[in-house]
Amino acid sequence: MAAARSLGRILTAAALATLVGCAREPPPSAPPVVGCLEALRAAGLAVEPWAAPGSGACRVEAPVRLARTGLTFDRPLETSCPLALAWLRFEPEVRAIARRETGLEVVRVLHMGSHACRRMTGNAGRASLHARALALDLAGFELSDGSRVTVLEHWSDRGPRGRFLRAVAKAACLRFAMVLTPKSDRFHRDHIHLDLGPFAGCDA
Ligand SMILES: [Zn+2]
Repeated sequence: MAAARSLGRILTAAALATLVGCAREPPPSAPPVVGCLEALRAAGLAVEPWAAPGSGACRVEAPVRLARTGLTFDRPLETSCPLALAWLRFEPEVRAIARRETGLEVVRVLHMGSHACRRMTGNAGRASLHARALALDLAGFELSDGSRVTVLEHWSDRGPRGRFLRAVAKAACLRFAMVLTPKSDRFHRDHIHLDLGPFAGCDA
C-alpha cells in the first residue's frame, strides 16, 4: 500500500510538473521570439538591425531588416524576426510551386510591407497584425524570364501564373495563421496577406 501511495505521489508530482511546464509555455499562437535571431543567422542570413518605429500596440519585438533571404526582395523587408523566420521556412515551397506551375524560378519577391501602425481593415477596433510586424503583404513575384506575376493582374488568370499565385496562397494556409486574398474583400485585391495569428483563416 505504501508503495502504491508513493507511486501515486510520484504520478501526482509528474502531472503537476507537466501542468507547470505547460503554464510556462507560450500559447500556440505566440510568435517564437526566443531563439529567432539565432535561427535567422544559422540560416546564413545577413540580419541588419532595424530601429522599428512605434511603441505600445505598435511595438515590434525583435525587429529585423533583410535585403534578401534565399530570394531578393524588391525593397528591404523591415519586419519582426518571427515573421522573417516564417517567411524563410515558407520560401522553398514558393519556389517549388513556381517551378511546378510555370517552369520558372522565382528571383524576386514583390511586397507591400510588413510593419504599419494601424487598425485592422474591416475591424477598426482591433490593431492590425501589421502593427507589430507579424504580417506580410505579398504583391507578387518576379520570375527568371524577367516577367512579373502580380496578385492584382494574375490572381484570376486561368493560366500558370494564376495557378501559381493561388497555389502559393493555399500552401501559405498551412504555414501562417491568416491568409487573405482577393477572394476576401476589395482591400486585398492586389496582395496576399499572411500573418502569424492569433486569428486563423484561409481565403485561398
Ligand atoms: Zn496585410
